[in-house]
Amino acid sequence: MHDALIIGGGPAGLQAALTLGRMHRTAVLVDSGRYRNSTVEHAHNFLTHDGRAPEEIRRLAREDIAAYDTVELREATVAEVREEGEGFVAETDAGPIRAKTLVLATGLVDDLPDVPGLAEAWGREVAACPFCHGHELAGRTIALLGDGPHVPMQTAMLAPIGSEIVHLGLDEVTKVERTEDGVLLHRADGEPVAAAGVFTHPAFRQAAPFPEQLGLAMLPSGCVRIDALGQTSHPRVFAGGDLAHVEQLPMPMASLLLAAAAGQAAAASLVRFLAGEAVASGGPVGPR
Ligand SMILES: Cc1cc2nc3c(=O)[nH]c(=O)nc-3n(C[C@H](O)[C@H](O)[C@H](O)COP(=O)(O)OP(=O)(O)OC[C@H]3O[C@@H](n4cnc5c(N)ncnc54)[C@H](O)[C@@H]3O)c2cc1C
Repeated sequence: MHDALIIGGGPAGLQAALTLGRMHRTAVLVDSGRYRNSTVEHAHNFLTHDGRAPEEIRRLAREDIAAYDTVELREATVAEVREEGEGFVAETDAGPIRAKTLVLATGLVDDLPDVPGLAEAWGREVAACPFCHGHELAGRTIALLGDGPHVPMQTAMLAPIGSEIVHLGLDEVTKVERTEDGVLLHRADGEPVAAAGVFTHPAFRQAAPFPEQLGLAMLPSGCVRIDALGQTSHPRVFAGGDLAHVEQLPMPMASLLLAAAAGQAAAASLVRFLAGEAVASGGPVGPR
């Protein structure tokens, strides 16, 4: 029985593992290798990692965690998590794992608009977040693809960065074609529009079924409700990263740095929870 099972090996789960390792808690982190930013070549807006490949950030994080021998990383997929006694059992394709507490860091999946060529450009020339991928398009044409209340706001945000901001409705564009220095947005009527990059606003959903399996309280965004310290509606389940946010926000602030910070908060809450249990039970609070 481990102190904690962390599901997810993105920034949230990896930081939770580091925090638990530093507090000498036994933890297993399970990672199925499906990251939200898996097509991204360069991540930005993360102090000390600006411009680094997400893959390299994960490799460096794993190197940091390797220094802490109470934490184990496993490449596996969790199919189901259920409560068992005073803890949980997770069924994985590499066998069951038992733990007293859980950190959910399984992230979200983006459902991209159904435009041919868009998926191939996603994370490269096409993105959702101007903070992450706007600056690289400076002084060139930037396209906003799709409609919605975010369009005026994104136009205003990108105005100081691009030479011009072009807005195209989803119905207008028949194909996104990657070129040497950007994209061509082919239109049903008229000439294609050349742009250095494109921002669009995909719908998102939970990447894993565990919030539902555990009956966690959810928010209108479809994310897990947590408090500021990553506590879910279940006292033994903590969550951090894109899959969860506090109810004061309309949706998660999806960023690597904030996901890592949320993973740290969730792990710190978990450590406090286990310490609180030890104090309450009058059990051993000294070294194992
Ligand atoms: C196109 C794009 C570009 C982006 N660019 C930037 C950027 O430049 N800068 C920035 O700060 N942010 C960027 N982001 C946002 C950033 O990638 C996310 O906020 C961040 O990855 C969220 O981290 P996470 O740990 O919550 O989830 P993820 O990184 O998505 O990790 C989820 C983890 O859960 C695991 N998992 C899921 N289900 C299971 C299961 N059943 N069993 C086992 N493991 C499971 C996955 O394998 C993975 O390890 C970008 C996002 C996108 C989509």
